[in-house]
Amino acid sequence: MKYTEFEIISKYFQRNQKKNLNEIKKGIGDDSALIKIKNNNILAISTDTLVEGTHFFKNITPKDLAYKTVAVNISDLAAMGAHPKWTTLSITLPKPNNMWLEEFSNSFFNTLKQYNIELIGGDTNRGHLSITLSIYGLIEEKNALLRSNANIGDLIYVTGNLGESAAGLFLLQKKIFIKNLKIRNYLIKKHLHPIPRIYEGIKLKKIANAAIDISDGLISDLNHILKNSQCGANININKLPISTILKENFKRKYYLNWALNIGEDYELCFTVSKKNVPKLDVVLKKFSINCTCIGYITPIEQGFNLFYNKRKILFKKKGFNHFS
Ligand code: ADP
Ligand code: MG
Repeated sequence: MKYTEFEIISKYFQRNQKKNLNEIKKGIGDDSALIKIKNNNILAISTDTLVEGTHFFKNITPKDLAYKTVAVNISDLAAMGAHPKWTTLSITLPKPNNMWLEEFSNSFFNTLKQYNIELIGGDTNRGHLSITLSIYGLIEEKNALLRSNANIGDLIYVTGNLGESAAGLFLLQKKIFIKNLKIRNYLIKKHLHPIPRIYEGIKLKKIANAAIDISDGLISDLNHILKNSQCGANININKLPISTILKENFKRKYYLNWALNIGEDYELCFTVSKKNVPKLDVVLKKFSINCTCIGYITPIEQGFNLFYNKRKILFKKKGFNHFS
């Protein structure tokens, strides 16, 4: 079935959402959306593009693609401590396909609903499949978790565990194999269905100094904090949160590399001053947030060091880079 751009917009994307009319003065359907921002809040804005072949495989289901598009985008707001509120969707499609659009938009709106986010606009074009999402959220100015706010002596934490998404990716790429179907599906789900740490970011915003979400790998992403904060760090590899599933099924050299150098876990890496650690412990316990301390921030002259069994190890600063 053939649709014009306008039919696609009205059939699949201009849905009746539960609009908060105090905030959304104009949503889809005019030349621009109009949003009222309340006092004391600042707007957090983040955009990500997913391109077929680069960020997802050709055979990904529209359901998984829509979920992942939303999840990886709001993960950036999570790393800011911001509360996601609105989104715009720019979608480029090779040719309009009824079933694909139906599945994609259903999953897209289901995911938005989980996080109370409203679609307020976008753009629809013809071309190679590519999806650009912008997310808009709110944060009080003083609480934004900037990459540049780490201080010497801060402890470094990560949420959840690391490396499982990479295992899922390599299973999909048939670079590794595992017989147990249940474990295989679990790891693939970790790759296709990362859970953005929005809730955690909001709970941490008054306690942490700096934060980033782990999209490219711990080493690469922590390096952004170090560079922006003009600091060094010591990381204890023995402390990395690695699941028993990875430990029991794969060699150490593999899962450590996945945790350090391959991304897409979308966990948060954040720093906390020693003074705030008791507060952090209370919040982690109260809200059942799973976090691990993996090291601490040092003066910049000391550089970035990894320790394994108390010995300094050599490593390459890798992480995923589109142009390398
Ligand atoms: P313009 O030509 O002024 O850019 P468009 O025809 O591109 O307007 O879009 C019309 C309306 O539909 C706008 O409000 C725009 O934000 C919205 N829109 C277009 N594509 C999408 C989409 N994929 N998802 C949500 N809203 C969309
Ligand atoms: Mg347009």
